[in-house]
Amino acid sequence: TVLQQDAVVFETPAVTSPPHQPTSPSPSPPPPLFNEDKIVVSVEVSLKPASTARIDDVRSAVERMLEKRSMSYADGPITVPLDDSFLVENVQRICICDTDVWVENRDILLFWQVKPVVQVFQLSEEGPCEELSNDGQLASFNEWILPAKEFDGMWESLIYESGLKQRLLRYAASALLFTEKGVNPFLVSWNRIILLHGPPGTGKTSLCKALAQKLSIRFSSRYPQCQLIEVNAHSLFSKWFSESGKLVAKLFSKIQEMVEEENNLVFVLIDEVESLAAARKAALSGSEPSDSIRVVNALLTQMDKLKSSPNVIILTTSNITAAIDIAFVDRADIKAYVGPPTLQARYEILRSCLSELLRTGILSNSQIQDGDNLCLPSFTSLKQQNNTTIIPEAVALLTLSNQLLEAAKACEGLSGRSLRKLPFLTHAALANPFGCEPGKFLHKMIETATRERSEI
Ligand code: ADP
Repeated sequence: TVLQQDAVVFETPAVTSPPHQPTSPSPSPPPPLFNEDKIVVSVEVSLKPASTARIDDVRSAVERMLEKRSMSYADGPITVPLDDSFLVENVQRICICDTDVWVENRDILLFWQVKPVVQVFQLSEEGPCEELSNDGQLASFNEWILPAKEFDGMWESLIYESGLKQRLLRYAASALLFTEKGVNPFLVSWNRIILLHGPPGTGKTSLCKALAQKLSIRFSSRYPQCQLIEVNAHSLFSKWFSESGKLVAKLFSKIQEMVEEENNLVFVLIDEVESLAAARKAALSGSEPSDSIRVVNALLTQMDKLKSSPNVIILTTSNITAAIDIAFVDRADIKAYVGPPTLQARYEILRSCLSELLRTGILSNSQIQDGDNLCLPSFTSLKQQNNTTIIPEAVALLTLSNQLLEAAKACEGLSGRSLRKLPFLTHAALANPFGCEPGKFLHKMIETATRERSEI
């Protein structure tokens, strides 16, 4: 299968000078160097669902393919070469990932600067396995085998500024590395608890799931099996508090079983942890049975027990920063605030939406499309283009990008979740939704955004 390139990876002519005498200037500031003076870059290789090829064979084939190509490395898919029948038969997608984790302020990495690390995986199509609570109504937790099909592409779809994703990835990678290397926790201490807090709809839960997926791929050679357990803290406090205690016990005995298998990497996602604080407070004020305090305490004790297991990472989220249980805050190593999207993030989110509508033919415009690809510039390159003289053919594109920028400005205050819904609402509001042209669509989108904001 030849996959359409989404992000452009440029083929560069073979460099004739030796690698230590670069023909182009090296990125500035000098990047951190790893692995014999090279920067480690992840190349994720997703196998086709029906493939039965050995992971090692595929890895070697991709490594050989990369050696043959003198390309530059930027995030995005690379084409599976048609003449490599083994790869064509087995590989769904090859993607260069997260070059920005290690290298800041860089434009492009050239092949001789890079040590590609190939990670081969097959997505689990099993779907979530739900555990129902005793009243049969509320699912108390969900379990996924990672990497899961449901979370494919989620990491890339989440757009934040100021290196939030990179920070989380580096943190989790360091935590797992310390564990793997057997660093003594009495001498150097680190927890494996992450807390993301901020307003609803800013992508916290999705980010936790995407991070777990990413790490399951990144650490697959050390941990061949990986699971994610998702617990909704709120659902633990069912109206039957005596049941809640049992639920917590059942949940953690299951998790304990999983972590005892040392080849298992286990992620526990506890959503809406603010409900723990609320339950404790309500119990103190006498409006709730004191059973709820016992449930909160049981949960915290169980979490502390889990801490001694090296192969578990606990991910937590809260929508109300002020109300998180202090006992919880103390336990988290990384507490990251996830805020509403900035102008740049809003532009990029809407750009990805527009790109999807053009890919699927809901919108169409030959001037700005190259096959399935949308040529609208990114936020950063738009800023540069607005400051330079451009060729007349690019005017249509620039006009549209500036309109997209206007739409992004009109969306100030909307959450990431509302932004991702906006194109759908816009389409539903169009008088003539067939064969819509992007300019008109964006005009309507600004109107829709203004209406949505007035309803917040
Ligand atoms: P939260 O847990 O903060 O309430 P969710 O993880 O439920 O948020 O987010 C819902 C959806 O909103 C996500 O799946 C995603 O599609 C979208 N979203 C939210 N924030 C962003 C963002 N920064 N970038 C891209 N999409 C986002």
